[in-house]
Amino acid sequence: MAKLRHQALNLVQTREKVEVKAPSKRISEYFGEMAFTKAQMQAALSPDIFKKVTHSIRNRRKIDFETADAVAVAVKNWALERGVTHYTHWFQPLTGATAEKHDSFFDPGKGIENFKAEALVQQEPDASSFPNGGIRSTFEARGYTAWDPSSPIFIYGKTLCIPTIFVAYTGEALDYKAPLLKALEAVDKAAVKVCRLFDRNVNKVNASLGWEQEYFVVDKALYNARPDLVMGGRTVYGHNPARGQQLDDHYFGSIPSRIYDFMKDYEIEAHRLGIPLMTRHNEVAPGQYEAAPMYGPVNETTDQNQLLKDVMEKVANKHNLRVLFHEKPFAGLNGSGKHNNWSLVTDTGVNLYQPSSSARDNLLFLTFFVNTIKAVHDYADLLRSSIASAGNDFRLGANEAPPAIISVFIGSTLTNVLEKLEQSGDVLVEKGDNLYMKLGIDQIPPIILDNTDRNRTSPFAFTGNKFEFRAVGSDANVSDPMMVLNTIMAEQLTKFYQQVDKLMEQGREKRLAIIDVLRDYIKASRSIRFEGDGYSDEWVSEAAKRKLSNERETPRALDFSVTDQAVELYEKHKIMTKVELEARHEIRLDNYIMKVQIESRMMADLASNMIIPTATKYQTKLIENAKGLVDLGLPADEIKKTIEEVSKHINNVRRLSHEMVEERKRINKIDDARTKAIEYCDQVKNKYFDDLRYAVDKLELLVDDEDWPLPKYREMLFLR
Ligand code: ADP
Ligand code: MG
Repeated sequence: MAKLRHQALNLVQTREKVEVKAPSKRISEYFGEMAFTKAQMQAALSPDIFKKVTHSIRNRRKIDFETADAVAVAVKNWALERGVTHYTHWFQPLTGATAEKHDSFFDPGKGIENFKAEALVQQEPDASSFPNGGIRSTFEARGYTAWDPSSPIFIYGKTLCIPTIFVAYTGEALDYKAPLLKALEAVDKAAVKVCRLFDRNVNKVNASLGWEQEYFVVDKALYNARPDLVMGGRTVYGHNPARGQQLDDHYFGSIPSRIYDFMKDYEIEAHRLGIPLMTRHNEVAPGQYEAAPMYGPVNETTDQNQLLKDVMEKVANKHNLRVLFHEKPFAGLNGSGKHNNWSLVTDTGVNLYQPSSSARDNLLFLTFFVNTIKAVHDYADLLRSSIASAGNDFRLGANEAPPAIISVFIGSTLTNVLEKLEQSGDVLVEKGDNLYMKLGIDQIPPIILDNTDRNRTSPFAFTGNKFEFRAVGSDANVSDPMMVLNTIMAEQLTKFYQQVDKLMEQGREKRLAIIDVLRDYIKASRSIRFEGDGYSDEWVSEAAKRKLSNERETPRALDFSVTDQAVELYEKHKIMTKVELEARHEIRLDNYIMKVQIESRMMADLASNMIIPTATKYQTKLIENAKGLVDLGLPADEIKKTIEEVSKHINNVRRLSHEMVEERKRINKIDDARTKAIEYCDQVKNKYFDDLRYAVDKLELLVDDEDWPLPKYREMLFLR
């Protein structure tokens, strides 16, 4: 039974170096060559058409048919020149993966390569194979994909990929991207209005995102010898290695050469696709790494993240490796997250989260800064639900990742500023910058990027010139958290504008009106601010006193996504309807159920097919040995103790897996998705997973290493 493991270990020993070759020495010579970027577009289109396209993209206007046709011809020629034969609409259904349906450019009827506006703009994939949460059966509508010109078309392999949204014929979103685009539009509108209180020249505000993708890498053969990794991306069993994370020598240590080659290779692919990857380094746990690009517009970087994950999987395969994007592939080791660095930038080039040395500019900064805190305060639960998943449940609150309690960290300097601003009372009107001096606003130092001021334990932290949403899971599509964050900002900024406007109508000077409202917000949102250790138990009880939610598990955290408050918010900003929200809720519950179900099955299967037979064989060996000792009149007390121990754990594995299977049978009869998900959480996962694992991991320590069937943690993690 241990044959597969030993074969895998042999393979690992004999892996040969995979050569990595960049198209040329300088990245700039191939960066973006596989993307139909603005520069490529400009080269391929007539100046007139190019202007029309960029104008439409910038202002989120529909591209007319004639223009689309010109783009279609240009992009087809661009693709054919590069040996491309097929095209596909590339979209992000609620399965979590990306989807595509390939069609050939070749038109057999005409005998030529053909690609028209119709094919560029709209397609009809078979929607029945994607989750819809009951939307389609209710409306009997088909789904279609529609070109999203704001994200560049790209060549992947031999296929031209056209980023699209995916919606039902009746208009309901069936993907991640459609609501995200709407949220970006909403925050743009609301933020522009607020910016214009300061600067009439602002016409557009773009949300930016820079993500940091954490992942693990293991050898392909070892991965294949672990059915739990293959089926669920997570090791359900496995004892901690003696040399674990304790040593901390992995972080920023040297990168093993096989991994280094793999990184270089996927970076080349990413750069050719126009994904501006910047940093690569080791993470906290052995076998864990991170990739981060230069930030950009949320919509584009969201696509880039989905695409990069795919690229990494393909390239890893070439290097006989597997990438694990699961949030917690290895128990007892650091999990993987995906920090979402987020900011708002005007079309005049101002980052609204950049404090400056000018008091006047800092009022603009403070406006967006305080409004963000207020938005998070009012909609913390919605943010929490946006990052809920079966995988992330293993990470949040596990003393290594932010807790499930949403709070905001801003650092001591800005805390002081807010406190001063709050306490100054009704400041006398003084004209000019003196007013701000008096409020202490001028005292914000120009740069607060001091690393020592960072609090790694906060789920939502201000880090110098951006906010960082750190509780996002490594495997998540960032669309959801980004959609929520931008929507709640749109709502908050809309309210802010109205309140300021009202005060001004009552005769309050503009800047004072702004400060009045900010001061109210600082007071009202104080409970969401937390500067201490987010991993501590004290914070859990303190947060409870502050009445902050602490929903640690997905089935209940998802309730937050369909509250009256949520429905009202989404409907007001035309992001999603109640029907769409409920459909999504259902899909996410189903997804949760499926994940826990698969893991539970995997645990029981491995137990009965691998663990129990192996342990029993070993137990028999021990018994024979003990008998022999007794025959010879030698003491057998110690070996008997070991036999007892082995027997005890085998019994526990048997009993627990049997009980768990029975529990599953009962729960599977439940119809209501929410009840079923909660039962799976409480009565399967929480009731059995840890105990079962405990018994198996004990056996791993007791049973002859030679016979153990599953690759061990030390074998998977310390790859060189
Ligand atoms: P960390 O120290 O957390 O690893 P980095 O400095 O490496 O942070 O930056 C992480 C990510 O934040 C990168 O993708 C970077 O491009 C992005 N980033 C930097 N500034 C901004 C900003 N103003 N808005 C959005 N993202 C940003
Ligand atoms: Mg970070």
